[in-house]
Amino acid sequence: MRPESSEGTVPAASGGILVLSPHFDDAVLGCGAFLAGRPGSIVLTVCAGVPPGDAPVTDWDRRCGFHGAREAMLARREENQYALQKLRAIGLEFDMLDGQYGGQCTGLAARIVQELLRLRPCMVLLPIGLFHEDHIRVSNAALRARRWVTKSRISWIAYEDALYRRYAGLMQQRLAALRARGIQATPWLTVPADLPVKRRAVAAYASQLEPLGLTPGRGDDALPEHYWKLGDEQVDYGQSTAIPPCERGGADPQSP
Ligand SMILES: [Zn+2]
Repeated sequence: MRPESSEGTVPAASGGILVLSPHFDDAVLGCGAFLAGRPGSIVLTVCAGVPPGDAPVTDWDRRCGFHGAREAMLARREENQYALQKLRAIGLEFDMLDGQYGGQCTGLAARIVQELLRLRPCMVLLPIGLFHEDHIRVSNAALRARRWVTKSRISWIAYEDALYRRYAGLMQQRLAALRARGIQATPWLTVPADLPVKRRAVAAYASQLEPLGLTPGRGDDALPEHYWKLGDEQVDYGQSTAIPPCERGGADPQSP
């Protein structure tokens, strides 16, 4: 864990919003407009570990223009800091390795619980977990953590994994899988995402744009962000999805 705030201190986020991001760009691609309207939110990137200097370059890193894994992760960290500054979000990191470097997110659920106890957020946003081993691991670990803190008053909200949500049938499959585990996912919020501030934040991830086939503001990043409220079937069935005060958060997203 490494604090990334400009002051270099661990933020006190009691009562705030915590977004779990598998990789450096996922929270911004999937939740950038939501974050823009809620300054001070915390984005915790899970697979932020930096491989050793002799780690071999991967095909993905090569496509992103890098010659080494360490170089790639250090550059992505810098890009992320710049993107989060645009959204006035606070970045935190776990030191877990990306799946492409052999990372498995071992023990992640317990580490998330530790962070929940430390940061005491009122809301956690997790990737719904559509595709890519790291996304699915982070999503499942967050769901396990949710089970371990059932007495807390945290609202658990899933965001759609940007780009992957356009793959045919993936959302449907994941919703069915959640339902099979007794987890209800109910549409909670839709946020327009075609905003200059989100475009600038997405553009910060310069090394990944071309391999992702993404032009900021012209792809899935600019389409509305959809959020799903998670609840336990037996507890929440039939309850309203009205947004309580804590969840309404900040002002509407604005372009500075
Ligand atoms: Zn990702």
